Amino acid sequence: MSKNILVYIDHFQGQPLPASWEAIGAARELADEMGVGVSAVLLGSDVEEIASQAFHYGADEVLVMDVDALKDFIPEPYAAALSSSAREAEVLLLPTSGRTRELAAMVAVDLDTGLAPDVIAMEVEDRAIVATRPIYAGKLLTKVICKDRRPQILTLRSRAFSKPEPDSGRSGDVISFQADLGEVYTQVVGYGEAEGGVSLSDAAVIVSGGRGVSNNPGLEPPADITDEHEQEIWRAQQGFKLVTDLAEVLGAAVGASRAAVDAGYVPYANQVGQTGKVVSPDLYIACGISGAIQHIAGMRTSKTIVAINKDAEAPIFKLSRFGVVGDLFDVLPALTVAFKAELGK
Ligand SMILES: Cc1cc2nc3c(=O)[nH]c(=O)nc-3n(C[C@H](O)[C@H](O)[C@H](O)COP(=O)(O)OP(=O)(O)OC[C@H]3O[C@@H](n4cnc5c(N)ncnc54)[C@H](O)[C@@H]3O)c2cc1C
Repeated sequence: MSKNILVYIDHFQGQPLPASWEAIGAARELADEMGVGVSAVLLGSDVEEIASQAFHYGADEVLVMDVDALKDFIPEPYAAALSSSAREAEVLLLPTSGRTRELAAMVAVDLDTGLAPDVIAMEVEDRAIVATRPIYAGKLLTKVICKDRRPQILTLRSRAFSKPEPDSGRSGDVISFQADLGEVYTQVVGYGEAEGGVSLSDAAVIVSGGRGVSNNPGLEPPADITDEHEQEIWRAQQGFKLVTDLAEVLGAAVGASRAAVDAGYVPYANQVGQTGKVVSPDLYIACGISGAIQHIAGMRTSKTIVAINKDAEAPIFKLSRFGVVGDLFDVLPALTVAFKAELGK
């Protein structure tokens, strides 16, 4: 089918992942350098609407398999369909997401080729893509290449590549295709809202709180909270309220360190780091977070890092562009007031 650079459009129930458009932008640059075109591939049910958006962001053609059997994301049929469309592609790019981690690996096995996951930069050398990706919890960057196999499969870290300006005048060919979806052993029986409901991965600005948000000994909990741990949680909730207030003014998502999550201050959905979400926002504000290597693994590629910490020796300052040595209970309310005034809110 496609002889081009193929980009998989990841979506959930008809909502495309913004990183899909970043992947099309990245594909466009590679394609121009390699003298080929950009095809997008769209799998699902009633998804044709998304195809027009793919053109706006730079696709030349969109391959669509629109059938009931692909209504919900199930790895086996999705992998079968994607493998069938990617067989002749030179490069297959996918935005990195929970779904594509599984999907890309299955397609790589199906097509007997290599996979570079969570890539943050790419260059072309003799038609091979040299992919840069973080390893060892982000301590090192490695360059990998898939030498002799095609397609070269890469998943691109969300927000590591810029999203092109959409051009609503662009269009192209929508090509329907069918593939043998094989045996399907699982089915989706329902969805539930995740606690917290934050979308950290796509956020341009993140304000994160750590264990420090509970450290305000002067703050007296109500008399009916007598248990020490309950008192700590109550203090943390007051601290996180300051984090959330600032996040609201900035239109930011709220993140957290694992210490804050383990202590029960906020749900796991908010955790940033090696065992949480990997994020790359334009601005990351770390409040009361020491900067342990496992936390840094999840946010070191943020474009601008700001740290607020009482301890001038905290490791997070080594990574920060701007640092405020101070008590977050003083600094955060002052920042929120200042941003409100600046942004006219
Ligand atoms: C296998 C493994 C995986 C892990 N995965 C993750 C992960 O995904 N994400 C993650 O975050 N961690 C992870 N960790 C835990 C990590 O090692 C650290 O324990 C954790 O990141 C520490 O969180 P913290 O910075 O909030 O707490 P601390 O290290 O306790 O730091 C609290 C900071 O708050 C400051 N502070 C205190 N009071 C105030 C105040 N009032 N105002 C301003 N500053 C204040 C202190 O000076 C201190 O620097 C992992 C650990 C392991 C072993």
